[in-house]
Amino acid sequence: QNQRVPLIAGNWKMNLDHLQSIAFVQKLAWTLKDARHDFATAEVAVFPPFTDLRSVQTLVNADDLPIAFGGQDLSAHDSGAYTGEISGAFLKALDTKYVIVGHSERRQYHGETDADIAAKVAAAHRHGIVPIICVGETAEDLEQHGPSAVPVAQLRVALEGAATGSDIVVAYEPVWAIGSGLAATSEQAQQVCAALRGVVAEVLGDDVAEATRILYGGSVKASNIAGFMREADVDGALVGGASLLLEEFASIVRFQK
Ligand code: PEP
Repeated sequence: QNQRVPLIAGNWKMNLDHLQSIAFVQKLAWTLKDARHDFATAEVAVFPPFTDLRSVQTLVNADDLPIAFGGQDLSAHDSGAYTGEISGAFLKALDTKYVIVGHSERRQYHGETDADIAAKVAAAHRHGIVPIICVGETAEDLEQHGPSAVPVAQLRVALEGAATGSDIVVAYEPVWAIGSGLAATSEQAQQVCAALRGVVAEVLGDDVAEATRILYGGSVKASNIAGFMREADVDGALVGGASLLLEEFASIVRFQK
């Protein structure tokens, strides 16, 4: 049995305003507390829109809630004339522990390249934030190159930005599984997550690879999470749609039950 604490991360995307976000986080904390969730068995993190982060920080700090939070993206730059961008320094000032980097929607709609993502990984590490590095193949990539080639290549480039001694989380998110209702099988997820751990070992060393959490994402639900979590190289989930459904998300967090 490895020592990695599973991470269940909820990517809210462009949903929930700041008032809705604090209501949701408060209810999530109550629900998990009522269910006596042991946070040592699964860490929980939410990724609200930027405009919610200050409110979530205030709530989490005031009530000492055991829920981590982070940004859905960050700028590769630290400050300056970059209209609309958010610096890692600003995220760190709001106590964000994590930041999602290279989500397929950023790659697809905002043209982010692997090199951009490496620069964002470096920016996160400059500010002491753990990047959740998303990689994954499209249906076309899968057909042309098989399951691991594209995610492995994406991760190799992204890790060029990683600072020695700084933590990373990797999220394997097949693009064809995101929001489609068609999740990968747990065997497919295991195969690619194992290959990704191999890349982390190659670039950052065996000890880092052993300690790094690799998540699966793509149509994760309460009904399929346990299967993924039984796999040796799957250390949690990045959850989109189901992270907006309180009871469903709480059930995913409590996957062992
Ligand atoms: C995501 O966008 O990160 C995701 C995994 O979405 P969904 O769970 O809705 O497939």
